[in-house]
Amino acid sequence: MACFCFLVDQRRMMRRAKPVAGTCSRCGSGAKVADMQVSTRFCNIPLYWESWKAIVCTYCGATLKSYK
Ligand SMILES: [Zn+2]
Repeated sequence: MACFCFLVDQRRMMRRAKPVAGTCSRCGSGAKVADMQVSTRFCNIPLYWESWKAIVCTYCGATLKSYK
């Protein structure tokens, strides 16, 4: 399994985000709700991906809540 590690590429991206009511518990900045998506690729061929919504801090990027 370990020998395949370098061929597997996992990408995490935030597709879009909009401001939402709430403040970060770590820095007190505003929060936003974002569509998160992670895709796992093997030799550049997408194997699977999953997406979920998460509330993240606009300043420090902490995940405050996620709806997976
Ligand atoms: Zn924060």
